[in-house]
Amino acid sequence: MSRQYKLKTSCPQCGCSAVSHLTKDEIKKRYGDIPNVEMECSECILKYETPMKDACPEWDNECKMEDEK
Ligand SMILES: [Zn+2]
Repeated sequence: MSRQYKLKTSCPQCGCSAVSHLTKDEIKKRYGDIPNVEMECSECILKYETPMKDACPEWDNECKMEDEK
């Protein structure tokens, strides 16, 4: 199954928003278990972090559900 999750972030400096579509495996490979998503703004090249629960509430919920098993 290759369900995709939508990660939405916005740059704290210029407000430019970015959306990524990643599968579960891609998220795990890229971010592992860290609670923050690291992004680089395409407009002003600022590197910033967004909590996973803000970037992708859906993913955050699924992680919690997995933890409870
Ligand atoms: Zn920016």
